[in-house]
Amino acid sequence: MKSEKSIETAVTKYAKSQGCLCYKFVSPSNRGVPDRIIIGPTGKVLFLELKAPGKKPTPLQSHVIAQLRDNGANAYWADTVLESQTLIRCHLL
Ligand SMILES: [Mg+2]
Repeated sequence: MKSEKSIETAVTKYAKSQGCLCYKFVSPSNRGVPDRIIIGPTGKVLFLELKAPGKKPTPLQSHVIAQLRDNGANAYWADTVLESQTLIRCHLL
């Protein structure tokens, strides 16, 4: 079983291979923000919360994703590398 960490590493490698910037997202005093901010080669932005396979976002993480979407941002969560790659392709490439 893959860990969240190994998925995050693989997704970061994929994003960079496609010309994206892939930053770890930590916002002091704002718990629950997605793990990564990924910026595509034309400036489109994706917020991505990564989970271990079979795990779901916490209620707080789901709430933050909903807030980001309400403000028009692309915000998603994924528990597989394949799903993450699809999100990157669909929203950023
Ligand atoms: Mg996570």
